[in-house]
Amino acid sequence: MNRQSIPLLSPAIGTHRELVSFHFGPANSGQKIYIQSSLHADETPAMLATVLLKRRLLELEKQGALNAEIVLVPVANPVGLGQYVLGQFLGRFDLGSGKNFNRHFLQFSKLVARAKETLGSNAAENVRLVRKLIADELAEQKPLTEFESLQLALLQLSFDADVIIDLHCSLEAAMHLYTSEAAWPEFEPLSRYLGAQASLLATNSGGESFDETHSLLWWKLQQELPADKPVPNGAIAVTVECRGQRDVSYEVAQEDADALVDYLGWRKAIKLDAKPLPELLSPATPLAGSEQFYAPVSGILIHRAKIGDTIRVGQALFDIVDPLTDETTTIASKTEGVLYMRRAIRFVTAGAPLGRVTGTRAFRTGVLLGA
Ligand SMILES: [Zn+2]
Repeated sequence: MNRQSIPLLSPAIGTHRELVSFHFGPANSGQKIYIQSSLHADETPAMLATVLLKRRLLELEKQGALNAEIVLVPVANPVGLGQYVLGQFLGRFDLGSGKNFNRHFLQFSKLVARAKETLGSNAAENVRLVRKLIADELAEQKPLTEFESLQLALLQLSFDADVIIDLHCSLEAAMHLYTSEAAWPEFEPLSRYLGAQASLLATNSGGESFDETHSLLWWKLQQELPADKPVPNGAIAVTVECRGQRDVSYEVAQEDADALVDYLGWRKAIKLDAKPLPELLSPATPLAGSEQFYAPVSGILIHRAKIGDTIRVGQALFDIVDPLTDETTTIASKTEGVLYMRRAIRFVTAGAPLGRVTGTRAFRTGVLLGA
């Protein structure tokens, strides 16, 4: 294992942050795995899982059991961790610009036109050529802010990985993950090992998120290039929501770290006696099929269903009680699925998002991710 550090652009005189990464296994093994956690800064369930994962990777490396290069970034957002304001971490958005740390990533898919001119008939060589194009594009970037330099550093560490695993957590949530339809067969075993209660699929959710900058380029190349210019899935990416923000315990984090190791064993990135695949808890559903609930009025929020519950059409999920009029507004589900996440608040303003239930029928269009 070796520890590396990328200095971030200093936002103001006298301040300086760095992005730290840990590199395991043989470089140039032909397979690279990139795992980061806590892109929204204070996502501690994911961070603790990487601490325990790092310990296991150190042991496995000592035993000579690593077949792939594995890059681990436990603290993907040191900028957000510095945003401790009036007793609260505000790690989702950059306070300087208001930007979400997992949006606005440089989109590799802008390279499609250039790649079309360069690629030939050899699939493996095409992967190498596309990665070279990305490397050149990244080398040309001149970040102006600390936010931009952080995003660039994350892409520099991950752009040539075959598998990208981005560990987050939600507010109050069941274990769930997001990936593309094209990558789902490759991540279905991860969903099983993690015990995910929802696996949400979208090719392009419109958010310019970290996972999609990696996966969309290859998908677009596959759509636009003729058959005599074959392009494999050069990178597959998944975003994992390690339950809710307060779900921090050694037991749960160890389960998650073990699930990641089992998955890497399944991929043959680690030499392991393969653990039999557990059952898939819920079939994958389209992200565009998830129903999102919003508060029609302000008031005290009472949750009527538990996280991870299977919800029926018409089932009451939330009550909002107005303490001045005594009126109660009930919000019911229009879809059948799993209540996989909800907000951690207990008093809502009108229009506030409340939670989400999976659905099998895609009905939403446009940008599918929240702010
Ligand atoms: Zn997040």
